[in-house]
Amino acid sequence: MDLIRVKNVNKRYKNGVTAIYDLNLNIKKGDFVFLIGSSGSGKSTLIKMLYREEKPSSGEIIVGGINVAKLRNARVYKLRRKLGIVFQDYRLLPKMTVYENVAFALECLGERKNEIRVKVLKALELVGLKGKVHNYPDQLSGGEQQRVAIARAIVNEPKLLLCDEPTGNLDPEMSLEIVKLIESINKETKTTVVMATHDKEIVNKMKKHVVVLKDGRLIKEYEKGKYDDEIF
Ligand code: ADP
Repeated sequence: MDLIRVKNVNKRYKNGVTAIYDLNLNIKKGDFVFLIGSSGSGKSTLIKMLYREEKPSSGEIIVGGINVAKLRNARVYKLRRKLGIVFQDYRLLPKMTVYENVAFALECLGERKNEIRVKVLKALELVGLKGKVHNYPDQLSGGEQQRVAIARAIVNEPKLLLCDEPTGNLDPEMSLEIVKLIESINKETKTTVVMATHDKEIVNKMKKHVVVLKDGRLIKEYEKGKYDDEIF
């Protein structure tokens, strides 16, 4: 079963730049996909369309049965509830503790305190940060901050985890740890993962489904992929 279906999608920004050309892509439930390509190839644009930060100019995008392009603004929350997002720059709230950062979205959803507590501690345990619940983001290393961001992204058990260059600010060792953590989440919880990256080492080590973008076009797909130097 496909969790994501992208059909004949084009994305042209208001300034006239076309970022995605005639894209067709299906991603199965539980899959782990690396989206690779050099800077400007359209990776972020595709990720943004999957969580409806951007709309396609034409074509169809279905995520978990939701027709994302046609979704009315007032209904975007329905899509967002099904997914978690991790960014390169962590995007934690600096005046909140680790616990509060992870709990925040659940509080906004109006969940009860006790339920929130169970979910937050479970997520923080999964990312190995249960001992740091009272710390503030600036008291953590980059890798730890990204772990908090991952805990926040998975706390509501999303069907889909979107990651946009999650290791972009981390050293190689920490990067591998973070990607391995995301792999374990993918395996244990069956959460589908789509990760944009240009980290060649990691793509080669992990041997996952690889989708290669170049100048806004999908030019290759590998089942158990590698970072193909010839393409770049
Ligand atoms: P990547 O994530 O692979 O670096 P992007 O999706 O960010 O690629 O960018 C693809 C193309 O779209 C680039 O040419 C970029 O300049 C352009 N682009 C990205 N965002 C915008 C925007 N908000 N407005 C106009 N052009 C954009």
